[in-house]
Amino acid sequence: MSAARVGIYHTPRTGLHLLRMLALLAFALAATGARTDSLTTPGISRQLAEYRAERIANVRYDLSLDVTRHDTAYGHVLIRFTRRLDGDAILDFRGFSMGAPVVNGRASSLKGDGAHLRVPATMLVGGENRIEADFRSPIAAAGASIIRYHDSTDGTDYLYTLLVPSDANLLFPCFDQPDLKARVTLTVVTPRGWKALGNGPLASADSASRSGITTHRFAESDPISTYLIAFAAGPWATRSAVTDGRPISMWVRASRAKEAEADTLIATNARAIAWLETYTARPFPFRKFDFLLAPAFPFGGMEHPGAVFYNEESFIFREPPTRNQLLGREATIYHEVSHQWFGDLVTMKWFDDLWLKEGFATYIAAVMQDDLSPGANAWRTFYLRNKPVAYATDASRGTTPVWQSLANLDQAKSNYGAIVYNKAPGILKQLNYLVGDTTFKRGLRTYLRQHAYGNATWRDLLASLATASRAAGGRGSQPDLMAWGRDYILRPGMPVITQRVIPRGASWGIELSQAPAQSLSDTAPWPIRTQLLIADSAGTSRVVPELLTARTTVLGFPGHAPAFVFANAGDEAYALVHLDSASTRWAEAHVGSITDPLQKAMTWGALWDLVRDAQLAPERFARVALRELPKERDDQLAPFIVGRLARAVDGYACDAAKAELLPETERVLAAGAADSSRSYSVRKSQLDALIGITKSPDMLSHLDAALDSTTILGLPLRAPTRWAIVTHLASLNAPTARTRLAAESRRDSTSEGKRRAFVAGAAWPDAAVKADYWHRYFADSTLNEDWVTASLGAFNDPDQEALTRRYLVPALDSLPWVQRNRRIFFLGSWLGSFIGGQRSAESLALVERFLGAHAAWPHDLREKILQSEDELERTVKIRQRCAGER
Ligand SMILES: [Zn+2]
Repeated sequence: MSAARVGIYHTPRTGLHLLRMLALLAFALAATGARTDSLTTPGISRQLAEYRAERIANVRYDLSLDVTRHDTAYGHVLIRFTRRLDGDAILDFRGFSMGAPVVNGRASSLKGDGAHLRVPATMLVGGENRIEADFRSPIAAAGASIIRYHDSTDGTDYLYTLLVPSDANLLFPCFDQPDLKARVTLTVVTPRGWKALGNGPLASADSASRSGITTHRFAESDPISTYLIAFAAGPWATRSAVTDGRPISMWVRASRAKEAEADTLIATNARAIAWLETYTARPFPFRKFDFLLAPAFPFGGMEHPGAVFYNEESFIFREPPTRNQLLGREATIYHEVSHQWFGDLVTMKWFDDLWLKEGFATYIAAVMQDDLSPGANAWRTFYLRNKPVAYATDASRGTTPVWQSLANLDQAKSNYGAIVYNKAPGILKQLNYLVGDTTFKRGLRTYLRQHAYGNATWRDLLASLATASRAAGGRGSQPDLMAWGRDYILRPGMPVITQRVIPRGASWGIELSQAPAQSLSDTAPWPIRTQLLIADSAGTSRVVPELLTARTTVLGFPGHAPAFVFANAGDEAYALVHLDSASTRWAEAHVGSITDPLQKAMTWGALWDLVRDAQLAPERFARVALRELPKERDDQLAPFIVGRLARAVDGYACDAAKAELLPETERVLAAGAADSSRSYSVRKSQLDALIGITKSPDMLSHLDAALDSTTILGLPLRAPTRWAIVTHLASLNAPTARTRLAAESRRDSTSEGKRRAFVAGAAWPDAAVKADYWHRYFADSTLNEDWVTASLGAFNDPDQEALTRRYLVPALDSLPWVQRNRRIFFLGSWLGSFIGGQRSAESLALVERFLGAHAAWPHDLREKILQSEDELERTVKIRQRCAGER
């Protein structure tokens, strides 16, 4: 089977053929009943999902959960379904224990195997079947499907579920796959006085029947996938408002209720819902909409139908928010609300098409922002937030296609990452540009109509768009969307367009050659619909639309060669652009004077891409940034430049260059932070970067002294920035660090304060401390996963490579454990921190050796390592070159 996966990975076209053959084979085996045992391998295999989808329909769960005990939920479930074909029914369950089920009214002695429970065909009937069982499931701070959060501020406990992608069966016995949508009727028994939130409307909350408890009964939900089932329970505070006839409630823990901007948050959610109703021409698809601010939430948000969960920490600010934080919060709301249609109403058939919901949620959020706030440069924000991250992963040897083969749901976590979150919206932008706005919207409406409350694949999407395109087409030739899909959805990797300008006296030409960023792709060119920007030295510019279909396209123009050319104006193409040498020189000199905000951001991005590809020395980039930063007043661009400046100086520059650049960088950042003529966001980004990189004794004592004040460089100094200073002092083992950490812990006794103290502690340059943290990461079950994630960066401080290198290989060795025991995004953060904390060729060699020794490891894990290794590889290469030049 692993050989088949190799084929699928490297050559998608053959791979698909293979996949079809495997599917046929699986079908043949299932049909003869010869190998049904392979259906009950751990996890949920694709074969099991296909077997069940053929046989089962109209699923309903009546689910009761008693969560009054500390660490165990006591549950009862009645599962009803229609049986369409002969065969056993196989349930998934990984909770603590399950009683023998009652099947169609008959008691049984059936037992599960810790992953599945098989109900033999002889106990089932044609038409509707009923399976009933008692069960027990875990409640814990981490590693359970019900997360318990203890609020140390007021001693209260809160519970919420997080079942995506495959933990519904850790909570209760079910058919845990996205294409067996079910109506859920939920009852939750809680301590008396608690509130409870579910996917459906609350029908009753009864405290009378038994003392000390409250029984919350919810109305039946609409048909939803198991990963989208959710509830929360606890002494939550709620705020409600009715907007345009739609009631929405915000749920927040009591100790933070006063700080939450309920009116703004409710209004933003309501605005997004109203916009999507118009854009999709479909009313909100579920019976009600509420949202909850979940403490210690491991994601930014989760789109449960009717009960969206957002990350409390990024929704309630502890210090004045920057523009980027506000935009980030708005983008998250637009993303999760878009999911109610794209993901919840129409769901991917299997997690191989995960991109279908994630790509859309982010892309539609940008379309919405552009429409709702026309002056906000939504597409510039889209570029800054998505393209650099997407290109960085897609140009690595660990990249995957947007559509990612998935043999078993228990590996679905690996399918999450920059390819589905950042590349997928990027290719949707290209697709929208290819077919035009009207056709794109019309096609999406067809897609939603055809698959409402059901499931779809990428082919269904492209078929709907092709229909709309033909209807709008008239006489012109239509783009072959299935061919487009093979290039952008099935094929890994991305094109890099290299520009070469050819002066020819009275005319000039430009050669645009495209090549895959990595040799893993086949070398065939991508069809790229793009726009060429041509600007002369006086700043006059024009844009020429082009379709690049060949490896090399040569275009000719009359007149003198231009000063600057850029082959992706408007950011419509999904392709990284390597500037020609003249354009590079012009950009270095004039990037600050570009007036179009998107083009300016992309030009900074193009210069940075040359640095990452070791074609432009980091010092040269740093000099441009240091020159321009004092003049840059844009709330989003200044932080982008600051981040890259810090990386150029602190990560990429060789030691001699760093020694030269760091003092000036500190000076420029300090002056920028203190400049009261500039916006708070611009100043704060420079303050944050300064706190992160400063080494000079003067600046360190300035930061230290600021802890006795309420301001720093004229900016308000609140808990998050205070903790950042304390963490930096700890990482340098500064003389005052210990007393400052103790004082800050006394000063900030909130649960967030405890988390930040834990993070600061990870920064000590001390072998015993590192060993202790390392041990706790695996052994301490009381540790919230969110705390671990937050501390990984401090643990792996790049200046402590000598201390942390010994954990590099153990961190790689632990990946199978991490994959089993941690949530979706953890593995990426884990690798990003342990590999990203290294800068040396020795560390790179360790990773390479590990990969060599683990050639037989699952593809998904190797790919994740390769994705993180890419930045280390570039760092080593850039630093070697820099050292060689000196
Ligand atoms: Zn999402």
